[in-house]
Parts: sequence; structure tokens; C-alpha cells
Amino acid sequence: MIEYKSEQEIELIRESSLLVAKTLGEVAKNIRPGIKTIELDKLAEEFIRDNGAVPGFKGYHGFNGTLCISPNEQVVHGIPGDREIKEGDIVSIDCGVLKNGFYGDCAYTFAIGEIDEATRRLLHVTYQCLLLGIEKAVEGNTLGDISSAIQEHAEKAGYGVVRELVGHGLGRNLHEPPEVPNYGKSGKGLRLRQGLVIAIEPMINLGKRFVMQEKDGWTIRTSDRKPSAHYEHTIAVCKDKADVLSSFSYIQEALKLNKYNTLIIE
Ligand code: MG
Ligand code: MG
Repeated sequence: MIEYKSEQEIELIRESSLLVAKTLGEVAKNIRPGIKTIELDKLAEEFIRDNGAVPGFKGYHGFNGTLCISPNEQVVHGIPGDREIKEGDIVSIDCGVLKNGFYGDCAYTFAIGEIDEATRRLLHVTYQCLLLGIEKAVEGNTLGDISSAIQEHAEKAGYGVVRELVGHGLGRNLHEPPEVPNYGKSGKGLRLRQGLVIAIEPMINLGKRFVMQEKDGWTIRTSDRKPSAHYEHTIAVCKDKADVLSSFSYIQEALKLNKYNTLIIE
């Protein structure tokens, strides 16, 4: 059953979502060639706990990281570890927190130094997919309007849209109904109304849409090993314009000062 949120609950989800955004801002200050993904995970966990919250992913179905860190051909759910980030990588980083009983969820794909032109375009188009999806998240539209806006934009660019993983409702739980697929038909599915809080999160592949799970039981990667990008915001459906509860502004401010990041997506 879908739980529609009160204004007060939405403010609490905003607080959690902004803490996720600020945590990703801390990641953005520190991401560079040579840093191990576990080091980014540690600083994120410390920042979240210093701000009176707990990491939302840690312990979730046994996941042991604060961040999901998924470089290059990894789509989502990459486990932080000893892998070092390299010049030319793209790195999708997903983070959730739990504060005051409510979750926030947000993800961003970073470009480390110079990346090739095809991958740069993938990041831009995936980010545009997120914005186009958010644009449709207004009262009276349907979930299918969000899904089809994302799918059409990605496929028009020649990319594969991941089907196996989807956006979701959230609030007192990290994942709640409804599912928010990145593919679908406009006009179909749940009619949107005020109080619906969802994470919209296109996962778009440079190559084919197919993905598989690594033997670690978590990491999802593209079957053809071509790169994949992922951007995610937590939003509340409103009458005229979706209320974006998370933010990329902390990331973007930090990237302006990070000499290893040449790409700021705005
Ligand atoms: Mg997420
Ligand atoms: Mg999510």
C-alpha cells in the first residue's frame, strides 16, 4: 500500500535527503585518482554520524557499506573496498541516510579527470533523463509519464535502459511502493497526487540494456561491460512542479574546487 506523506513528514524526508546531498558533497571534495573506494565510504559514514543520522544502506539486507560505489561498467550496488579510483573512470555513488525515522536517497555519477567523449555524452543524457522524469512528477500525471519520458530520451540517444532495477517510494522505509521504472508508457500506471514521495533514478547504459550480478552477490554490471550512469533525486509530487528534496548543489560546489574533476553536470 502506498503511504502518502503529510507536509511535516515531507520536511523530515527533506532533512534526510539534504544530509545525503551534503554527504555526497564531502565525497566530491575527496574523490581523486588513487583514493580507495573504502576511504570514501569511511568519510561518508563519519559525516553522516557526526550529523546525528545513520547510514541508510549499512546493514540493509546485509550490505556492509555506507555508499554503493560503482565504477565504469558497474551499474549500481558496488561494494566499497580496496579498488583505487583511476583517471578516466566514471564512478556512480549512491547514498542513503536515516534520520528522525525517515530516509533520504540520492546518487551521482562522477567523472575523474578526462573521460572520453562517448562517456561524457552518456553522463549528460542520463542527467537530462532524471530532469525530464522529475518534470513529469506532478499531480494528475501518471507514473508511466515519468517512466516514458526517461526511456524515450535515453533510447533516442541510442542507449540501453536498465529494466531490472527501478526507482521507488520512500519514507519510513528505504524502499516502499510504488516502483518507478525507467521504462513504460505515458498515461499508464498510478495517477500521481500530492504527498507521494519517490526516488527517481535512471540507470542508463552506453551499450545494451542487459545487466548481470557479480559473484559478490551485490554488484550489478552491464553484460557487455560498457559504461553505465546513474543519477537519483528524492522528490515529492506537487500540484504544478515537483519538489526536489535532495540536491546536487553541494556536489557541484565541491567539484569546482576539485582539480581532478573536469565535468560538472548542471
Ligand atoms: Mg539511491
Ligand atoms: Mg534509490
